[in-house]
Amino acid sequence: MANLSVAKFGGTSVANYAAMTACAKIVIADPNTRVVVLSASAGVTNLLVALANGCEATQRAKLLAEVRQIQENILNELKDAGTVRLEIEELLTNIEYLAEAASLATSSALTDELISHGEMMSTKIFVQVLRELNAQATWVDVRTVVATNSNFGKAAPDDEQTQKNSDNVLKPLIDRGELVITQGFIGRDPNGKTTTLGRGGSDYSAALIAEVLNAKDVLIWTDVAGIYSTDPRIVPNAQRIDTMSFAEAAEMATFGAKVLHPATLLPAVRSNIPVYVGSSKAPEQGGTWVTRDPQPRPTFRAIALRRDQTLLTLSSLNMLHAQGFLANVFNILAKHKISVDTITTSEVSVALTLDKTGSASSGAELLSSDLLNELSEVCTVKVDTGLALVALIGNDLHLSAGIAKRIFGTIEEYNIRMISYGASTNNICTLVHSAHADDVVRALHKELFE
Ligand code: ASP
Ligand code: MG
Repeated sequence: MANLSVAKFGGTSVANYAAMTACAKIVIADPNTRVVVLSASAGVTNLLVALANGCEATQRAKLLAEVRQIQENILNELKDAGTVRLEIEELLTNIEYLAEAASLATSSALTDELISHGEMMSTKIFVQVLRELNAQATWVDVRTVVATNSNFGKAAPDDEQTQKNSDNVLKPLIDRGELVITQGFIGRDPNGKTTTLGRGGSDYSAALIAEVLNAKDVLIWTDVAGIYSTDPRIVPNAQRIDTMSFAEAAEMATFGAKVLHPATLLPAVRSNIPVYVGSSKAPEQGGTWVTRDPQPRPTFRAIALRRDQTLLTLSSLNMLHAQGFLANVFNILAKHKISVDTITTSEVSVALTLDKTGSASSGAELLSSDLLNELSEVCTVKVDTGLALVALIGNDLHLSAGIAKRIFGTIEEYNIRMISYGASTNNICTLVHSAHADDVVRALHKELFE
C-alpha cells in the first residue's frame, strides 16, 4: 500500500505510561502509520522466561508480582482502566497457571505460550492509552496473521501463509481506515500453538508485516535517536548517520555496534523497504534511514568496537606447500562448534579471532582443552586474550590507495596484533590490546570524522 508505514516500538519505548504516551503521540502525528507492532514492556519478557524455566512457589510468586507491578504502574495512570484492567487480570491469571505448569515440567511450546503474554499485555494497554488521547485503534491478535513452523523459541515464518492471512485479516481493516495495534515476536504454528520468533524478534515481525502489506517503510522506534558514527559513550562527538545501506548496517551489527541487526530485518531488505530508526522519547531529534542504495556513499561511515576478543595463532611447518592444512584446522573448529570471525594467513601460520556472539561465555572460554589438544596434534597453538577488534566501516575501502596509510598513520603508536583488509569492500578491521581500544577509536574518529 503506497502510503502505509509500519511502526514498531521496543520494550523501553513501552516501559511505562509516560513512554507509552510518547509513542501514542508519534502514532497520532503520522497519518501514514496504520499498523503498530509492540514489544512487551521492558523487563517483562525476561521475567516471563524465568517463570517458563520453572521455579518453586516462593520464587514464582516473587516474579509474578514483578510482572504484575509493571502492568499495574501503567494501568494506575489511565483515566479509565476499567475493561483493560480486567483483560490484564485475565492474562496475569493465565501466566500464573502456565508458570505453575512449567514448575512441574518445562517445554518449549509451553515457554512460547507463556512469554507471548508480555506482548499481549502491552498491546492491550496501548490501545487504551491511544483511546484516552482520542484515537481509535483496533487490537489484532498477531497469531491470526503471522504463520510459522513449529520450531518453538525460534520459529521461522511461513511467508506464503502469512501473506494470505494478512490479505484476509489486516488488509480489510486498513482499507476501512482503521489503526491496527498488534504484537511483535509472536506467531502461530499449523497446529494452532503459539510460537515466538526468537529474542528481540519484534523487529522481524514489523519487517514481515511491512512486507506482506507492501508498506512504504518500517519505522523502528527505540531509545536512541538513530545510528551513530561510533559509540557516543566513547566519543561524545560521535555524529548521527542520516542514511546508510543495509550492507553497512550489517557490518556494524556484526562488529558489535548496538544497532538493529539486518538479519532481523530480512523481509525489509529483500523487499527493498526502507527502515528508519529513531528515539520514541525524542522524535524531534531525527534518526537514521537504512536503505538499499543510499546517497551519498562516503568512504568512511562508522567505527565499531568489539571487546573481549581471543586470537588463536596456529603454526605448522607442514603448511608450507601442503594441501589440506586449513581444511583440517577448520574441520576441528567446526566439530567444536567454533565459528571464526576474522582470519589472516602467512606461509606457515594462520591467525584467527573467534566469534563469541550467541554465547554468554568469553572467546577464551570457548576454547575447551579437548579442542586445544586436537589442534595441537596438527600444529602449534598460541592463544592471546585481552584484545579488541576495531572495525572501520565504509564504502569501497579497497579502492582508495591512501586509505591504509591514513588509518595506520593515525594509530601508529599502538601495537596492532592483526589487520583484516580487502575481504570486504565495507570494512577494515584491526585487532588491538583492550587497554588501547577506546584510544584507537577516538584517534580514528578524530582523524576520519571530525
Ligand atoms: N519482547 C521480546 C524480547 O524481549 C521481543 C522484542 O522485544 O523484540 O525478546
Ligand atoms: Mg526488545
